[in-house]
Amino acid sequence: MANSSSVEKMTDLMAKFIAHTAKKLPDDVIAKLEELRSKEDSPMAKTIYDTMFRNQELAVKLNRPSCQDTGVLQFWVKCGTRFPLIDDLEVLLKEAVIKATFEAPLRHNSVETFDEYNTGKNVGKGTPTVWWDIVPHSDKCEIYTYMAGGGCTLPGHAMVLMPGEGYEGVAKFVLDRMTSYGLNACPPLLVGVGVATSVETAALLSKKALMRPIGSHNPNERAAQMEKLLEDGINAIGLGPQGMGGKYSVLGVNIENTARHPSAIGVAVNVGCWSHRRGHIIFDKDLNYEITSHSEVTL
Ligand code: SF4
Repeated sequence: MANSSSVEKMTDLMAKFIAHTAKKLPDDVIAKLEELRSKEDSPMAKTIYDTMFRNQELAVKLNRPSCQDTGVLQFWVKCGTRFPLIDDLEVLLKEAVIKATFEAPLRHNSVETFDEYNTGKNVGKGTPTVWWDIVPHSDKCEIYTYMAGGGCTLPGHAMVLMPGEGYEGVAKFVLDRMTSYGLNACPPLLVGVGVATSVETAALLSKKALMRPIGSHNPNERAAQMEKLLEDGINAIGLGPQGMGGKYSVLGVNIENTARHPSAIGVAVNVGCWSHRRGHIIFDKDLNYEITSHSEVTL
């Protein structure tokens, strides 16, 4: 049974975790950026990567967000039905965002649609976004945090392909998006692709794909092959770091899929930028936590 002190404790831990993810990139993103820096030859590409790493160092040293756009907060929650704070979770996450906004601090990124005013707290109608996966018989709670910046959100797109377009249609859809909007999203990009029946199922999967670690693959062999083909294809565009040209355009391509209607393929793309601020934390029923995305963190 939740009590007010455990709600307060989890709110505080989540506020600190959000603040940490704003200032330090996850381990897999840092490792991939280091790899890409070592593989680029052009002085411009190398200088941009050096600047990105300098930026990261200074963000930690000066205790400031690593990018000025700290995004709209989004959470993917995989919560056990027996997790003691399940009933309080959505309210608690909203409070944690407000706390992090002032303590981190985070940029004020929640504008009430149609009323056109900034709430100044990073919360508003429906924000932060919380997606739920309910896990039966579990007393744990896994939370993915994500900061959806303006630039990296821009290439997002979903559609249902005409019957007969097939997997070639999926590849064309993704590459069309990357050649037209990829540049705007601060490459190298993590490209999430959802393949399902309708726009909403594909769109949610494309965002879920961005929660997967860089270097992981879809368990289906053919989907994994498509991840590789898309990665090679998008790299061949030559966006390079910050779109200024280079041999590599992506941190990776992650595809998530479900079964689908026989005559329809819904496809969606979502993009994470080089500053891919994704965090992953797992709580047990006593609020002991494990952080898998960032090493050496104590909240
Ligand atoms: S795309 Fe990413 S790195 Fe570029 S400004 Fe937006 S949040 Fe920052």
